[in-house]
Amino acid sequence: MALLFLPHTLDASVSKLPDVGPAFEKRLGKLGIATIRDLLLTLPFGWETYGGPSAIASLTPGVQATVVGRIVKIFIKTTTRKKMRLTEAMIEDDSGERLRVAWFNNPYVVKNLNQGDRVAIAGMVKAGYGGVPEMQSPHYERLDGDPDAQPSRVGGLMPKYHLVNGLTNRKVAQWVESALPLAGQVEDVLPDEVRARHKLMDVGDAIRLGHKPETDEDFRGAKKRMAFAELFELQAAFAMMRAQMAAEPATPIPYQQAVIDAFKVGLGFELTRAQKKATWDAFQDMARPVPMNRLLNGDVGSGKTAVAAACVAMAHASGLQSVVMAPTEILARQHLRKFRGYLEESFPGLTVELLVSSQSAPERRRVRMAAASGHCALLVGTHALIEDDVELANLGLAVVDEQHRFGTRQRELLRAKGSGRPHFLAMTATPIPRTLALALYGEMTTSVIDEMPPGRTPVQTEVVAPDDRQHAYSLVRAEVAAGHQAFVICPLIDDSEAVVARSATAEFERLKKDIFPDLRLDLIHGRLKDKEQVMQRFVGGEIQVLVATAVVEVGVDVPNATVMMIEGADRFGLAQLHQFRGRVGRGTAPSRCLVLTDDPSEKSIGRLELLTRISDGFKLAQEDMNIRGMGELMGPRQHGMSDTAMEALLQPELLSEVRQEAERILESDPGFAHHALLKSTVARRLEMTSIS
Ligand code: ADP
Ligand code: MG
Repeated sequence: MALLFLPHTLDASVSKLPDVGPAFEKRLGKLGIATIRDLLLTLPFGWETYGGPSAIASLTPGVQATVVGRIVKIFIKTTTRKKMRLTEAMIEDDSGERLRVAWFNNPYVVKNLNQGDRVAIAGMVKAGYGGVPEMQSPHYERLDGDPDAQPSRVGGLMPKYHLVNGLTNRKVAQWVESALPLAGQVEDVLPDEVRARHKLMDVGDAIRLGHKPETDEDFRGAKKRMAFAELFELQAAFAMMRAQMAAEPATPIPYQQAVIDAFKVGLGFELTRAQKKATWDAFQDMARPVPMNRLLNGDVGSGKTAVAAACVAMAHASGLQSVVMAPTEILARQHLRKFRGYLEESFPGLTVELLVSSQSAPERRRVRMAAASGHCALLVGTHALIEDDVELANLGLAVVDEQHRFGTRQRELLRAKGSGRPHFLAMTATPIPRTLALALYGEMTTSVIDEMPPGRTPVQTEVVAPDDRQHAYSLVRAEVAAGHQAFVICPLIDDSEAVVARSATAEFERLKKDIFPDLRLDLIHGRLKDKEQVMQRFVGGEIQVLVATAVVEVGVDVPNATVMMIEGADRFGLAQLHQFRGRVGRGTAPSRCLVLTDDPSEKSIGRLELLTRISDGFKLAQEDMNIRGMGELMGPRQHGMSDTAMEALLQPELLSEVRQEAERILESDPGFAHHALLKSTVARRLEMTSIS
């Protein structure tokens, strides 16, 4: 393809490329592609393979193929019946056989192709009129000049890029093509020694071969290199963060046996093996003069709160205060009750206070005073903790529950509530495989609670066929009649909150009118202002059936809720479905989870049936990852990693190699003084996650 205009800098906007106007610029922007460098670094995720060129005589109807030949005629006609504009062409290959080709409503084809052009055509073969084979709306490429030219993309390989509405693979491939001459200028973030050790190609080759491979090997090699480099940047940033934090002093909290003895007495149950291990990990961290930075990863109901409470008790014994931040007021209040229950009896001086925005101004003032004076040992709250003018006299431990619900900045603000650096404990109830945890939260060390407290009856899970919905409704009705409560989760139809809210509202109206007119129903979704009140009324038993969107995901305890009915379950990841299921089965009564799908294919049902067999969140997450890929596990773009990098995580060895390399470089060159590009890239990453 002719180069119309070649911008000189990789940092130029994509709008500098031939025919990228504002509309295309915006669409590319949605894919995270702003500059020419971004475009080059975004490799296709796969290829449409049609195989190498075939002779027209050998084409088989119903099979995809590529044909190379000359256009003997091309014209536009308007179909009489549907008034469609049809571009028709006749292609003749070297042996003189002919193929008829049609494109519907695509007048551009005629602008791009002329009679006499040598072209490659790729698509599905159909048996055509009069024995002449046909292709409808095939991919095409003009093979300019050289009469022997072979197709570069259409032939064996047509790249598949991630797209948004209004973009086509063909367009992106063209833009990439015109930017490719700049590939050699892209700086390599991987030090030569690292590339050599792992036999990785350099970045220029990876870009060229990644977009236009000649063999599968090329493509795999290019992708591996790109993934390695991206993970390397991330891990180098994490290694830097860890080093920075290790250089900051924290007040050590020495382990005291008497504290844990008293704690156990007040607890009223025996800690599980996994809880003990996690507690022990944390105690060891806190005893050091550098800040603990630990992630507590345990399934819903695995008892993370008790581990945090043990840490709070230990801090208190050293005369240090703690804060615990939760994403919602209901959760904060729930924590207040739990921490008080676990601690106040055994540790008489250990006062627990609550700070949320719905409190009266005088009450908040009182709590702030208690915190600032050092009188309150544990302050539990919501965002109000960081928004309000809160200070703690001697903060020793900061805990964040459901940490993925907070941004790095918010977590940092919480850690800055005292005078020095507190020890830090993050908790998450999204069970993620270890590799993913390392890739995403590599600056923290992880403790996994992979065991449930004894005596739980697993939630009985059932996949319900779409035409069996009545069966699900009658189960809901029966439970409500027995005095219990139910959730109905609406399908995830769109990424837009507004659309989700609208459809949940419609479903709520329908259930209220047609299915459960005699029951007390209510609705909760992300757009609702008084979510907390609705949740509170559900907790209080006023609402019998709560129709909800994914907002109920986070850990509220409603022991009386015994049915979780999930509509459109095929749209959710297994890990997320498992989270929903975790909302029930929190009391003593047996509970059920009813999973409904609109996609009755074997594959979809098979995936959902894993829920009926597996109750361990980590195992489910692993299964989901194997089935749907890493990226899906986290939801769209939540992870800020490219798909190529995500996919590479499926081989855990790669990540551990990357980590080793990142640490090795940082050790030999602290601060990356001799790795200028890595240094600036890492600085940019750290800024993105706003560490300071
Ligand atoms: P999560 O990990 O979801 O935050 P919680 O800390 O809220 O879980 O614990 C869930 C429930 O299990 C609580 O009622 C808690 O008191 C109880 N629990 C926690 N650990 C144990 C244990 N070792 N034995 C019995 N019950 C426990
Ligand atoms: Mg919890």
